[in-house]
Amino acid sequence: MGCAKNDNPFFETYKNKYGAPPFDQIKNKHFMPAFTEGIIQHQAEIDVIANKTEAPTFENTIAAMDYSGELLKKASSVFFNLYSAETNKSMDSIANEVSPLLSEHNDNIYLNEKLFGRVKTLFDTRAKLGITAEQNRLLEKIHREFVRSGAALNPEQKAKLRGINKELGLAELAFGQNVLDETNAYKKVIEDGADLAGLPTSVRQAAAEAAKADNKEGKWLFTTQKASFIPVLQYSDNRELRKELLMAYTTRANHDNAKDNKAVINKIMKLRTQKAQLLGFATSADFILDDTMAKTPKAVYDFLATVWTPSVAKAKEEAAELQKLMDAEGKGEKLESWDWWYYSEKLRKAKYALDEEALKPYFKLENVRQGVFDLASKLYGLKFKKLDNMPLYHPDVEAFEVSDADGSLIGVLYTDYFPRAGKRAGAWMENITPQYKKDGVNHRPIICNVGNFTKPTADKPSLLNMDEVETLFHEFGHALHGLLTQCTYPSLSGTDVARDFVELPSQVMENWCWEPEVMKTYAKHYKTGEVMPKELMDKIQLAGTFNQGFINTELLSASLLDMNYHMKKDTADFDVNAFEKASLDKMGMIPQIIVRYRSSYFNHIFSGGYNAGYYSYTWAAVLDADAFQAFKETGDIYNPEKAAAFRKNILEKGDSDDPMNLYRAFRGAEPNPDALLKKRGLK
Ligand SMILES: [Zn+2]
Repeated sequence: MGCAKNDNPFFETYKNKYGAPPFDQIKNKHFMPAFTEGIIQHQAEIDVIANKTEAPTFENTIAAMDYSGELLKKASSVFFNLYSAETNKSMDSIANEVSPLLSEHNDNIYLNEKLFGRVKTLFDTRAKLGITAEQNRLLEKIHREFVRSGAALNPEQKAKLRGINKELGLAELAFGQNVLDETNAYKKVIEDGADLAGLPTSVRQAAAEAAKADNKEGKWLFTTQKASFIPVLQYSDNRELRKELLMAYTTRANHDNAKDNKAVINKIMKLRTQKAQLLGFATSADFILDDTMAKTPKAVYDFLATVWTPSVAKAKEEAAELQKLMDAEGKGEKLESWDWWYYSEKLRKAKYALDEEALKPYFKLENVRQGVFDLASKLYGLKFKKLDNMPLYHPDVEAFEVSDADGSLIGVLYTDYFPRAGKRAGAWMENITPQYKKDGVNHRPIICNVGNFTKPTADKPSLLNMDEVETLFHEFGHALHGLLTQCTYPSLSGTDVARDFVELPSQVMENWCWEPEVMKTYAKHYKTGEVMPKELMDKIQLAGTFNQGFINTELLSASLLDMNYHMKKDTADFDVNAFEKASLDKMGMIPQIIVRYRSSYFNHIFSGGYNAGYYSYTWAAVLDADAFQAFKETGDIYNPEKAAAFRKNILEKGDSDDPMNLYRAFRGAEPNPDALLKKRGLK
């Protein structure tokens, strides 16, 4: 490996003032040597800890473990950040090569008997160690990880678990690659302008530019990227086109070809069920939920039922209303899934005269981003300064220094907002370097917000739709959670919290997004700078509960489907499409709505780590609505005491305490679902 270290940026201390990775110097060839050497170094550190002759102490075992593996962490965070945001074929092969090495390395740590012996000794005597609450939390977290990784199994079972983990890692990777490839493969080229009837100019323009970029000048190109086909579903008068695009989107990786995910799902479910049962749990859901705020499948099903029943009832009312609109057109058509967006857009216009196209000029991306920055300034006193000389991994990326009210450094935020071929769909936040304290130094984090928002065109800046505005606020909330953290240990800092708690800081931001007081600060016309007129803002307020039956039914059906998969007890082969249909029928899904993610492209649960966890979005919605209610009750959505309490008890705390304790410390009570049901017009 010797020569590979030369000129490999991972082997040097990042020289940048903020400790940012030198993206401009990092090449694909640098990853494997850094991964390989990183694993060797980390293993050596672990061996030293495990083989110590001195009795275990918190410092020489738990803290030492948590701070170890620096090179490996450096390479992994850069690689996996780019693997989502700026990938290519060569990175696919690196991912395939490194994934089994990483699972194996992970197993070498968590199946190390000597190491587990030390951790267990500390865990069993934790009450007498005289450690802080944060240290106790870390000790419990690491001990649980060992047990859940199979440390308490016999050698034969351990070997079996290693095999399962390795295969599972590869299968989950294959799932995500199939979805990405199928998404990129689909192109709907329109040659006749007449087929674009109903589409707003901005949508036509974007499609024309997409065609041009694909060497099809003079034509229009649509894809199964949401930013491309959702406007078609909303506005196209061409029913066949709507159907074709929606079907293309909902059948991705379900075509019985080389990119089909049905066999991959079988494999993943078989392995997950085997793993859970090996570790002593009845199902994969029982295993996963043991480590969350919800704790059991029953708690999740009970919780989902309280929101599902009013949601479907509301969706049925909405379907009837849309059918009336269709009947009035006199074509004798029955409402189908590809009609829902189109007629609800018409209904929205009729009911609230709210036209998304009329709103967009007020949602220039840069203004919206400035809006969330200003909101963070008002609530938490943060300041944002654009950095011009940061190493970036793509020209679309921008970097900001974030500092506190007293001028001290909070961290760095990267924003990367536009779609491109090498970027996965969706929006997310990523930790590029983590926050932690060591030897008296508080290492401040570098956080990235990634999105796939509407791109600027030749004559227009990026103008967002409402969904995109909300997503930008949402991801920025995750960024704040990552930025404001003040923990000692890397494993407890930032967003490394229970999955059904992690969406609270992000979703709570969406509450501020549509408040007129906040909109006044960012919803300014991109040409004139004029603030959005009050009547438009009022309409947005009124429209807040619009289409909520559809939205919640779409979301909750995906949550229930996810749970049903992970409640499987047997490991026999099964028909994925039949399983999905039976699940949806049983929950009482209505035919005019398609589950938000059909199985074959349900990345969240089959490759994104949200297995038996998709319910978390709704769980967190209860938390966020109730948390925002705390501000509203004071009559001031910027209430400084509430903001300080939210920052101190939630945003700074990471996973240093049980989430329910953190929530109670902020709110003075456990979360109440009423605020959510009212907000969504379901009660
Ligand atoms: Zn989120």
